Amino acid sequence: MSEAETANTGEKHEFGAEVSRLLHLMVHAVYSNKDIFLRELVSNAADACEKLRHMALNDATIAGEAPGFQIEIDAEKDSGRLVITDNGIGMSHDELIDNLGTIARSGTKAFLDNLDGSDASSALIGQFGVGFYSAFMVADLVHVTSRRAGSDEAWQWVSDGKGTYTVNAIALDDAPERGTRIELFLNEDNKAYAEEDTIRRIVREYSAHVPVPILLKKDDADEPDQLADGTALWTRSKSDVTDEEYKEFYGHVSGQFDDPAVTVHYRAEGRHEYTVLLFVPGMKPFDLFDPDRKGRVKLYVRRVFITDDAGLLPAWLRFVRGVVDSEDLPLNISREMLQDNPILTSIRGAVTKRILSELEKLAKSDEESFLKIWDAFGPVIKEGLYEDPERRDAIFKLARFKTTKSGEGWRSLSDYVADLKENQTALYYATGTDVDAIRTSPHLEGYQARDVEVLLLSDPVDSFWVQTALGFEGKPFKSVTQGASDIESIAKDETDTSDEDKAAEGEMASLITEFKRILGDAVGDVRSSPRLATSAVCLVAPDFGPDKQFEKLMSQQQGLPSMAPVLELNPSHALIRGLAQKADAKDTALLEDAAPLLLGQARILDGEAPANPSDFVRRLGELMQKGLGL
Ligand code: ADP
Ligand code: MG
Repeated sequence: MSEAETANTGEKHEFGAEVSRLLHLMVHAVYSNKDIFLRELVSNAADACEKLRHMALNDATIAGEAPGFQIEIDAEKDSGRLVITDNGIGMSHDELIDNLGTIARSGTKAFLDNLDGSDASSALIGQFGVGFYSAFMVADLVHVTSRRAGSDEAWQWVSDGKGTYTVNAIALDDAPERGTRIELFLNEDNKAYAEEDTIRRIVREYSAHVPVPILLKKDDADEPDQLADGTALWTRSKSDVTDEEYKEFYGHVSGQFDDPAVTVHYRAEGRHEYTVLLFVPGMKPFDLFDPDRKGRVKLYVRRVFITDDAGLLPAWLRFVRGVVDSEDLPLNISREMLQDNPILTSIRGAVTKRILSELEKLAKSDEESFLKIWDAFGPVIKEGLYEDPERRDAIFKLARFKTTKSGEGWRSLSDYVADLKENQTALYYATGTDVDAIRTSPHLEGYQARDVEVLLLSDPVDSFWVQTALGFEGKPFKSVTQGASDIESIAKDETDTSDEDKAAEGEMASLITEFKRILGDAVGDVRSSPRLATSAVCLVAPDFGPDKQFEKLMSQQQGLPSMAPVLELNPSHALIRGLAQKADAKDTALLEDAAPLLLGQARILDGEAPANPSDFVRRLGELMQKGLGL
C-alpha cells in the first residue's frame, strides 16, 4: 500500500487477543501502582537508544547528525498531555504493528490464563512486567509517532486501548527526526502525571540509572532540566551505591516489581576485565518455566549494550537478572562470535561460580533469606545437578530437601549424612508429585521403623538428577521403590514389635509361588520384603529398572510401556500371615481373589487405578458378600 493510500483510508487494525486481555486488565486497574507506566515507557526509550548505539558501531551513518542519545519528557499540565520522546532506533510501519499490536513474548498466554481479575492478579501483573500497554492505565488516548533511524518515512500509531488501533503515514515535519514520540492524553483521574514534581519523583524512584540521560522540558524555560545523567550505575564503586539505587536499577533491568533478594556487584580484574552487577530476584519471574529457558542478563561492552541473549549464565541460573560489562570484547562482536567466544566462556564460568559462592555465603549468614530463595528457585538450580556435572558438588552444598525428618523445615545433604544409621549404605529417596503424598507412601514404612531418613523429592527435575548424580560423600542415592531393599541390616527401633509375628519362611515361599502363578505376567516378581511395616503389600521397580516415579514419567511422556513391577509382601502383616498359612495348606480358593485384589491395592497406594477396575470391584464385592455369609 502506498503512503498516500494509507493516509487517505487510515489503516485500522485489531489488537491480538492477548493484548486485548492485557489492556482490559490495565484499564480496569488491577495493578494499583500506576506510577510504573512511566518507568515502562522510559525503559523502552532507553532500550531503543541502546539498540541504535549498538547498530551505529557498524554503520556510523545510521545515527545521522545527532548521535547524542537522550530521552525527553514534556509535561503539559493544563492540557493533561504527557510526551516522552527518544532519539533511539524508532519503529517502521511493520514494527509498530508487530510490537504494539501483539505480544511476542512467549509465556504470555500462560501468564494471562493465571489471572482472573482478583486481587491476587495485581501481584501477578507486577511479576509480569506490563510494558508499553501500561500507558492505558493513565491515558485514554495514546499517539506513537516514530521514524526508524535511517528511514525517510514516519508513521503514527493511534489507539484508545479499546480493541483497535490505526497506523497512518505522517509528514516528516510532524515526526521526531529519529526515534519515537509517545504522547499520552491523560484521563480525568490521572492528570497529576503531567505535573513536574510527580515526574521528578517517579524518575528518581524508578529510572534514575537507566544508561541514557533523561531531560524534563519546562514550560517557562528554554533549557530542559536534567533528571538523570545516564551514567551506568555498575561503573560506580559498591560503597557509593545505596540500596535504593540498586533496587531502582534492578527494577529497570528486570522489569519486575519486587526487591532483589541478593545483589552481587564487583569488578573482575586479571586475565579479563569486566564488571558484574547481578540480582537474584525476591519473587519468581513469570517466565521461569518457559520452555526456551532463556536468561536475561544483559551483556555490555565498555558501557555499550550488546545483547540480552548472550547466555552469560547457564540455563539453571536463568532467574538471575542484571548486567555484565566487559572491557575486553570487541564492540562489534556478532551473534555468531558470541557463541563460543573464549572470553565469554571464561566470564561465564567465573560469574557462575561467584553466584554459587554468594548463595553459599548467604546460606551461612542469613539462613531464612537463603531458604526463601531456595524455595523459589531450588527446582531450577537443581537442573544444574545433571546439566553441569562440574558444579554438582557446589550445588549439593546449597541444596535443601524435605525429608522424613525435616518437618516444616529443610535439611541439607550434610545434615542427612551426619545422621546416617549404623550400616546404612545409601542415601534413600522417594519421588512423587507432592511431599505430603510421598510421606504416606507404604514404601517408607520400613525406613521409618528403622529411623532411616528418606529424602522426599517432589520436583519434576528430581527424577532426573538422581539418575546421574553418583552420590554424595561416597554414598550412592537409592530409591525406596527401586530394587530389593537392603535395609535389613539396619536395626529397628527397640520399641518396634511389628515383626515379632512373622510368617514362617516355608509358608511365605508357598504363598509367593501361588501369587506368581495366579498373577502371571502382571508382575515381574513377587517377594517378601523388609520395606513394609504396616501395609500388607507394595509395588517396587525391578532390581535393575529405573525408579518407579521416573518410569511413570517416561512412559507418560514417550508412551513407552512400563516394566511389570515387583509385588512385595509384608511377612509381618496379619493378612499376609493368614494367607501364607492357607497357601502352605494348599487351600487356594481364597488366594484366587486375594492375589489380584492385593495387586490392585498396591496400585492404588501408588496413586493409580487397578489395571482392571471392574474385575477388582467385582471380586471385592463378592468377598464382602462372603464375609456376610451371603
Ligand atoms: P518489552 O519492552 O518487554 O519488549 P513493551 O511492551 O514495553 O515490551 O514493548 C514492546 C516492544 O515495542 C518493544 O520490545 C520494542 O520493540 C517496541 N518499543 C516500545 N517502545 C519503543 C520505543 N520507544 N522505541 C522503539 N521501540 C519501542
Ligand atoms: Mg518494555
